[in-house]
Amino acid sequence: MAQNVVLIGPPGAGKGTQAERLAARLNVPRISTGDLLREAVTLGTPLGGLVRAVMARGELVGDALMVDLVRERLERPDAAAGFVLDGFPRTVPQAEALDQLVEGRGPLTVVEIQVPQAELVRRLGARLVCGACGVNAPPGTGAGGRCGRCGGALVQRADDGAEVVGERLRVFARAAEPLIAFYRSRGLHRAVDGAPAPDEVFAALERAVAGAGR
Ligand code: AMP
Repeated sequence: MAQNVVLIGPPGAGKGTQAERLAARLNVPRISTGDLLREAVTLGTPLGGLVRAVMARGELVGDALMVDLVRERLERPDAAAGFVLDGFPRTVPQAEALDQLVEGRGPLTVVEIQVPQAELVRRLGARLVCGACGVNAPPGTGAGGRCGRCGGALVQRADDGAEVVGERLRVFARAAEPLIAFYRSRGLHRAVDGAPAPDEVFAALERAVAGAGR
C-alpha cells in the first residue's frame, strides 16, 4: 500500500531532517515545498520570480501556486508508491486540495512534530546551510565550516535572520491551528515530541507512521 505521509511542524522543528530519514526508510521521495521554491529562486525561473519577495519576508506563497507545484511533483513516477511531504499543506485550502490530489492513492498519515517556541528560536538562530547546495549542516556545526556533501561554504539561510524568524513562527502558528484542527476532525492527526535528540524523534516518528497503518 502507498505510504503517503505529511509532516507538519514549525520552522526549526527538525522536519526536513526527519522527512529525509523517513523517506529513505519508506523508499519514497521527500517532497519539500520550501526546497522546490528555493530551487526556483536560485534558477531564476518564472515561479522563482513570483515567490522570491514573499519568501524573503517569511510570508506564505499563495495557495493556488502551491497546489499547482505539488500537483506537478506528485505526478512524477517516483511518487507513485507514496511520499513524505515536508512543508505542505500549510493551510486548510491546501489540505483540501491535497485530499483531491491523493484520491485513489491510499490514505494520508499526518504527523505533527511539536517543539517549544524558545527552542525553535534557539535552533534557527544557530542553523547553518550550504550556500552552494542548500543542505542543512549538522546541528552544532560552527561558522566557517564546509558542507559535508559538496564542500560549499556554510551560511545562515536568508530567512533565518532574527526578524524573519519571528514572522515565520507567527505565520506558522496562525496557519497551523486550523490545519491541525482539520486533520484532527478526520482522525488523522498524530503528534511526536520534537525536543529530544534526532534519533529519539525518528524512532517516535516511525512508531507514529507504523501505528497509523493498523
Ligand atoms: P520552508 O523551507 O518549509 O520553511 O519554506 C520556506 C518558505 O517557502 C516559507 O516561509 C514560505 O514562504 C514558502 N513556502 C513553503 N511551503 C509553502 C506552502 N505550503 N505554502 C505557502 N508557502 C510555502
